[in-house]
Amino acid sequence: MKERLGFIGLGNMGLPMSINLLRAGYEVYGYDTNTKAMEQFIAEGGVGLATSQDVVKQSGVIMTSLPTPQVVERVYKAEDGILQHAKQGSLLIDFSTVNPQLNDSLHKEAQSLGLRYLGAPVSGGVIGAIHATLTIMVGGEQEAYQSGSGIFGIVGKNIYHLGTSPSIGTRIKLLNNLMIGFYTEAVAETIVLEEAMGIKSDMLYEVLSNSYGQSRIYERNYLEYMKNENYQPGFSTNLLLKDLKLVKTMADEAGVPLRIGEQLVNLYSDLSTEGYGENDMSAAYLSLKEKCKIKQL
Ligand code: NAD
Repeated sequence: MKERLGFIGLGNMGLPMSINLLRAGYEVYGYDTNTKAMEQFIAEGGVGLATSQDVVKQSGVIMTSLPTPQVVERVYKAEDGILQHAKQGSLLIDFSTVNPQLNDSLHKEAQSLGLRYLGAPVSGGVIGAIHATLTIMVGGEQEAYQSGSGIFGIVGKNIYHLGTSPSIGTRIKLLNNLMIGFYTEAVAETIVLEEAMGIKSDMLYEVLSNSYGQSRIYERNYLEYMKNENYQPGFSTNLLLKDLKLVKTMADEAGVPLRIGEQLVNLYSDLSTEGYGENDMSAAYLSLKEKCKIKQL
């Protein structure tokens, strides 16, 4: 009999991750509030259920990939949520990017209810989720990590068990996204300036690919999005903004002033207000280009 897994949150990341688990031979029970996501999941062979409570009843391994800490908290802690209804001994794996305190409190509550919890945020984007090349940053007990390692090996490539603190992966993931915030704006500013001077984007990309200015984000944002004039996420501006706000809180708690990092929160808030929130974050380029046009009129 096929082993059963539960997956809640079948969005840009959760859907391809669950598809990889289906392809590896698991029976995957899933739930998402979005009907389109559910249809895609079912079309790929997943078993779609009406509520997250129904998913929790089907399996002793429940995974989540949800947009914000608020949604994660609700899905886990509500009356009809995961914690109240999971079977004794269940393994709960949260792939979402949340605040470290939420990882810690979910772990504590899970433990008091006889459940096991791992905070396991991921990096590598939608492409990484599709090709199962994600980096997974896991925090939690060794035994729970061992139980989840088969799954991690299917959905990801570089798997790090970073310690028994359930929030250690999140802290590292948020540091990663601070860098992403910098690089995304750096790519936008560089390309808008280069275009204004009449330099060809492909030529710049070629030369910088052999220079220190290159970054994984330049590669991603330029080749996958800007060059194709495709701004479907990907990783949305709103999700990056959410993470930069989490970084700012984390830095405030650590007493570290983020000289540019704090300005990034305002910058991506403005992009969101301008209407780029649901676009891929690489649309920072479109916003700056638009501002240049207005200035040149
Ligand atoms: P997404 O918005 O595409 O997917 C989230 C899914 O959760 C959506 O399909 C939504 O309908 C569903 N959802 C919302 N509320 C729900 C609820 N109460 N019950 C069930 N489903 C619900 O977001 P995503 O890009 O897939 O990101 C998911 C998480 O992974 C986020 O925390 C994000 O920060 C993180 N992440 C994203 C990327 C990326 O490149 N997209 C990369 C690394 C990490």
